Amino acid sequence: MSPCNHWETLVKNFNELNLPKQLSAALAAMKYETPTPIQAKAIPAAMEGRDVMGCAQTGTGKTAAFSIPLITGLIANPQKTALILAPTRELAAQIADVLRQMTAKTPDIRSVLIIGGEAMGPQIRAVSRGVRIVVATPGRLVDHLQQGTISLKSVGYLVLDEADRMLDMGFAPQINKIVGTLPKERQTLLFSATLPQEITRLASKYMKQPVSVSAGENTRPAKAILQKMVETTHPKKGEILLSELTARQGSVLIFVRTKRGADRMAKMLFTRGFEATLIHGGRSQRQRFVALDGFRKGRYRILVATDVAARGLDVPHIAHVINYDLPQTAEDYVHRIGRTARAGAQGEALALVTPEDRGQWRMISRHVGNA
Ligand code: AMP
Repeated sequence: MSPCNHWETLVKNFNELNLPKQLSAALAAMKYETPTPIQAKAIPAAMEGRDVMGCAQTGTGKTAAFSIPLITGLIANPQKTALILAPTRELAAQIADVLRQMTAKTPDIRSVLIIGGEAMGPQIRAVSRGVRIVVATPGRLVDHLQQGTISLKSVGYLVLDEADRMLDMGFAPQINKIVGTLPKERQTLLFSATLPQEITRLASKYMKQPVSVSAGENTRPAKAILQKMVETTHPKKGEILLSELTARQGSVLIFVRTKRGADRMAKMLFTRGFEATLIHGGRSQRQRFVALDGFRKGRYRILVATDVAARGLDVPHIAHVINYDLPQTAEDYVHRIGRTARAGAQGEALALVTPEDRGQWRMISRHVGNA
């Protein structure tokens, strides 16, 4: 995996960036004052009009790192529009939410969320009312392109968010189709947690001499996460989980390997009197939104999730991440535990490790630098 280079210009305060007044006011309302490292590096480069390849995970502030230059560009160029592609519905919805807050003082910059699992009708109607920003998952956007219900002719800004994950999920053909319909004259910003060769290839295909910026070491978890493991056996895992949940305070995100396992666990927690909800790929879009919203607003203390569903999840109050089942890869482990300790908060991560998991746990520990 190639390392990320560093962009030299560093900004200490958003005021230094000469952002449009409406955007500065929106950022102030969001209580964004100091740029995060990825923002301090990516925003000046993007505001110079350069293509930017950002090496950053969720939790680093990457959404604002691309949204701020993008909105600035849209304000300065009223004829241009923007397209943001993201791997999952949840991430796309989260980005749309950030954009809504950032464009609160620029009502003419409307955005639309184009995601699967929902009816096309309302999406088509929203597009026909005129939108400047399209936030989409690749599959559904291709559906709209094929039906001629969306035009991307005026896209002057393209963002590929979590590009590595989009490739992992097999979206390369859809991305290719989509980018093929875009004007060549555009600015492209690509964000990825890792930079395997496929990403560098993608970048050289879609970008013009991109500036590479990085939020720092990308395979290590944030320092504010206290990591623990408990050795157990398969039959005892349930009881250990219950006692850990009772001993801990605050919101908990529990990772389970399979959809069925997640269903079973949510039911078990519910019957034991815990306020738990769940998200996984087998649940409808509506069920996922309701579960996430309930967890975000504190109606449920516990969220049980599979990897796909939890990707990019940003709920600032998650205090604990429990790996009930270990993830397949060390990268997934870093992503999972990165759901806690968001934006500088403290967090704890716990892994339940059975004798069968020991080899996998050693591999993860070596990768994250704990062994
Ligand atoms: P992201 O990596 O884009 O998912 O952002 C992670 C979290 O950090 C989100 O809750 C953001 O609202 C928050 N955030 C991002 N940038 C800033 C900033 N400059 N100041 C304060 N909070 C921020």
